[in-house]
Amino acid sequence: MDAPHSSEALSPFAGDLHIGNSLSRKKERFEPLNAPYVGMYVCGPTVYSNVHLGNVRTFLTFDVVYRYLSFLGYQVRYVRNITDVGHLTGDSDDGEDKIGKKARLENLEPMEIVQKYTNDFHDVMRVFNMKSPSIEPSATGHIVEQIGMIKAILDRGYAYESNGSVYFNVRKYNEDHDYGALSGRKIDDLLNNTRSLDGQDEKNDPLDFALWKKADASHLMKWPSPWSDGFPGWHLECSVMSTKYLGTQFDIHGGGMDLKFPHHECEIAQNTGATGEAHSVRYWMHGNMLTVNGRKMAKSEGNGFTPEELITGNHALLERGYSPMTVRFFMLQGHYASTLDFSNEALQAAEKGLDRLMSAMAALEGLPTTLDAPNPDVNTAALAKRCSEAMGDDFNTPILISVLFDAVKLVNSIASDRIAIDAGQKAALVQLLNGYVFDVLGLIREDETSGGSEGESGALLDLLVELRGNAKTNRDWGTADAIRDALGALGISIKDSKDGSTWERD
Ligand code: AMP
Ligand code: ZN
Repeated sequence: MDAPHSSEALSPFAGDLHIGNSLSRKKERFEPLNAPYVGMYVCGPTVYSNVHLGNVRTFLTFDVVYRYLSFLGYQVRYVRNITDVGHLTGDSDDGEDKIGKKARLENLEPMEIVQKYTNDFHDVMRVFNMKSPSIEPSATGHIVEQIGMIKAILDRGYAYESNGSVYFNVRKYNEDHDYGALSGRKIDDLLNNTRSLDGQDEKNDPLDFALWKKADASHLMKWPSPWSDGFPGWHLECSVMSTKYLGTQFDIHGGGMDLKFPHHECEIAQNTGATGEAHSVRYWMHGNMLTVNGRKMAKSEGNGFTPEELITGNHALLERGYSPMTVRFFMLQGHYASTLDFSNEALQAAEKGLDRLMSAMAALEGLPTTLDAPNPDVNTAALAKRCSEAMGDDFNTPILISVLFDAVKLVNSIASDRIAIDAGQKAALVQLLNGYVFDVLGLIREDETSGGSEGESGALLDLLVELRGNAKTNRDWGTADAIRDALGALGISIKDSKDGSTWERD
């Protein structure tokens, strides 16, 4: 990173931020290595299928972390990768490459699969108003660096070659360091729970994990290396890309709770194994799972629906469609470290709450200022303090939202002339609400059809028309019709022509 600058641009609240660190299992005061710079790495999607709403929750968690750190004045380098090789169907060293498998099934090039689902991921991120990362590196773009890290780990004696593959030696590493520190797992318990797996005979020990795998003849994605034509192990890419762009020590590493073990545990081992330096990451953060009837939302469970299905309501779990901001608001009403259960009732309640919040936002600019001096009974500074205390307490968005609803009550009382304020108090309220609602929580107005937000709603409509076009290409007439009907109900028609489709307000 660049040379440190002064921290003058930081908000006075920056020092009050505490983060729930999964490594220490404590809330710790956030002290960046090199303020005002912050380095944050978040594990991105494996681009072999459409993202589901559970994935959206994790990316939203870190979107809000990124937004709040920026709001405090930090200059954040936010790196979120694209996993486009090495993630096997067994989520460990066994099975087929997820992308290679999909390419085989769909008779496409692996890179066509990667492009298709990366595009889908970006579309979804845009619909939910997630900020783009500063760098979005891919695993296939960093094969040379991955081979370099394997060599460094081999040189330190924490890995060995076997039959053209290279494995990390977990027991050897554990003699010098602490394997299991993040997940709290003990090496002997792990051994008792390890299944005997295909290809494991190459390993000296079932606990060892692959850094490089020799590819068999049917494997589509492979690269030359000193050991074999093969491909990198899944965990390696994140060690390599985080250190390449953020340094061997950096501030925050995030991902979903299900990545804590083995993915992040192995990342720590690789980083320490390559450099000899422990504690590559200062704050490990894990977002908890979105569940349906208490079970993790996952493609394999059949309970994961896509954002497109959510908007159109075209899924058995959905009573009707919900807007992306309703979903964003619903998710923000839970703390990221707790599980959140999906239900139609909760979404409908979130829709009402969001409507109340946005009505107050719309009334803000027009609030009357009838006093020449501040009303001593109105304390905007206290509201602002409560907002920063909520976010400073490990990004507690549910508490923040409850404080914002106190501000909404105040706005409504001022709008109906029950409380009077002066111009300074109005300016403070406008700044507070705009800052927390739009910048920190990342909500946008969805209902406006003119003025500044036509750009956003227009982009959303363009996207829906594009998604309908994709559905038609895939002969998914049900989805295509559901999108047309949902837009029709909002007074928007889709016009099809030989050059494609466009939308029009009736
Ligand atoms: P994947 O593409 O499977 O590597 O997942 C991308 C991200 O979504 C990871 O950080 C996962 O932990 C996260 N994720 C997967 N399922 C869920 C869920 N049900 N709730 C929250 N996050 C999830
Ligand atoms: Zn990762």
